[in-house]
Amino acid sequence: MADDVRAELQRIGDGLDARRPVRVKDGGIVILDPQPFSTTVQEKSNEQQQGAGGPAARSRQGSTRRQRSSDRSRAPRAESRIVGLAGNYAGQLENVQRAYPGATLIPDDYGVWLLARSRVVEGLGREAIFLIALPKTSAVEPRGWAFWDQDGHVEWIGPRHTNFPDGSVCAYHPTLDKAWSPGGDLRTLLDLYSVWVLRHLHLAVFDRWPGRQHAMPDDLGQSDPYYRLTQFKDTELCSCGSDRRYGECCRPHDLKLPFLSILHAFKRRNLGLGILDRAPPAEIAALIAQGGQKTLPPMLEVHSTLRAQVAEVSGNR
Ligand SMILES: [Zn+2]
Repeated sequence: MADDVRAELQRIGDGLDARRPVRVKDGGIVILDPQPFSTTVQEKSNEQQQGAGGPAARSRQGSTRRQRSSDRSRAPRAESRIVGLAGNYAGQLENVQRAYPGATLIPDDYGVWLLARSRVVEGLGREAIFLIALPKTSAVEPRGWAFWDQDGHVEWIGPRHTNFPDGSVCAYHPTLDKAWSPGGDLRTLLDLYSVWVLRHLHLAVFDRWPGRQHAMPDDLGQSDPYYRLTQFKDTELCSCGSDRRYGECCRPHDLKLPFLSILHAFKRRNLGLGILDRAPPAEIAALIAQGGQKTLPPMLEVHSTLRAQVAEVSGNR
């Protein structure tokens, strides 16, 4: 990694620690927001909730980008999002491709797949590939996977801040962050993924996850102490909402708990799986390894919450 790229990565990481907002430029390049008072990936949550193509200001720079935001007024409105999420997403494709050149949508019986690439940091020399299952029901959150592609060598990005057990990207907390909800702007979703990848890159280079983070909840809905002890580094921000580092905040408390019992409690909640038992479904890994887009697996096979929802709906009939 070139020195200037490394320095930029560190600068953004420091900014995330200080809760400075970031922006995502075209191509998926993450930068610190030079105008921190504008709406950003980190802060736009409330507005984003108001619906598809809602009033949330797009955090892109320059007049051409501002002009683009007017295109978004043509995006389907809230009513159509209920009857046709797939149509909503298809209608966004042109705008998505301006921000993420080459992005494609591939239809599935239960939704659409969004494939896109992100450059993450200027001059990085590798790209992230995103493969995101977008169900056509707004009752189910999307599920996506991220991979590095360096000169054709493809590698899964995880397991930190991925879901159990399928290693899908956990770029925001679906209820606490209110960062994105089904029917929202796909560019925002890809931006969130780009920032997540940048944080992974920071973890790989500087051995710490930058910025605020959530832990998995335990039986009481609190941060799972086993999860934190095994996942968080001392120098990372704690998940309790304080501004302190984990090592100086909740770690001493977590350490006092009986380790085996918090381990077993964790496994009980996670189908008996351990903290490292996370990996993309074989169908997804194989698809990415081939570099192909033609043989996408049926969404139902790789999206477990969608499968559960479909089973529940058909069971209720
Ligand atoms: Zn804490």
